[in-house]
Amino acid sequence: MLIKRKAQTIGVTQLAAMIPHEYGAFALMEAIMWGPDPYCPRCGNQKINEAKRDFHFWCGSCRKHFTVRTNTMMATSNMPLRKWFFAMYFLVTARKGVSSLQLSKELSISQRTAWYLLHRLREACASGPDLLSGHVEVDETFLGGKETNKHSYKKLGNMGHEGKTIVMGLRQREGQTVGRHISATDRLTLWTEIQKHVSKGTTIYTDDHPVYRGLERKEYTHESVNHRQKEYVRGDAHTNSMESVWAVMKRGYVGTYHHWSDKHTQRYVNEFTFRLNAGDVQHDTWDRMIALCQCLKGKKLKYKELTAN
Ligand SMILES: [Zn+2]
Repeated sequence: MLIKRKAQTIGVTQLAAMIPHEYGAFALMEAIMWGPDPYCPRCGNQKINEAKRDFHFWCGSCRKHFTVRTNTMMATSNMPLRKWFFAMYFLVTARKGVSSLQLSKELSISQRTAWYLLHRLREACASGPDLLSGHVEVDETFLGGKETNKHSYKKLGNMGHEGKTIVMGLRQREGQTVGRHISATDRLTLWTEIQKHVSKGTTIYTDDHPVYRGLERKEYTHESVNHRQKEYVRGDAHTNSMESVWAVMKRGYVGTYHHWSDKHTQRYVNEFTFRLNAGDVQHDTWDRMIALCQCLKGKKLKYKELTAN
């Protein structure tokens, strides 16, 4: 018999005890990123030597210095690694997200630094290439609009939603969630996202938005509920799991981030879906942090890119 173990949580004082100083932070990050056999993050070579400078190694193959930050989202950061760990802790444990203002106070850093740090973590949280399958709910929502308007736009076309932020969600029941910032709710946009993220043969559940009609032509089974007729559940046909994702995301949008700017939406959405996926509360806090560390590998986001118009 499978006995379900309760997820182990870590409090912030425990985390402080686990990572008492910068040496501890580097040792921990090296163990997470490299395992027992350190290797060069540029070429993968294992013939490496410790260099004189703290935390630095020397690669005998590409003949360059490196640290555990090299070729990761942390590569250009001078901020202590210990603070990176704390920022990741706040990101995985805060259900509604953590604001840059709040993080700046927790870590004694400027709000600008906290903001850049959080966006690099969110960028790292982007969904992997795995396709959803089985039973998948698909739905879209408007951020910034009134919840009561949500379904009326479907009667009126997109009227009344000019300039609103649109997010599309795809959630495999008992599985992963993908969130996408989209520019419109036309058939081409929605179907393109479905084909990109959902494998053929999957049963897709949607509301009665007419653009979803005909998904059978793309080798999906499609079932919908008629929200206009106040039908929300019919057997397995519902989008309730997606609705609960929107509820949490909207609380973050209004309560924590006070309406995030449209151009950064995808990264905020990444953060919320990460917490549902690898960051799920059913997993140990430490496992969730390890998952986030792994996501930092091979990625970068320049401050200039982030602030460019
Ligand atoms: Zn190398």
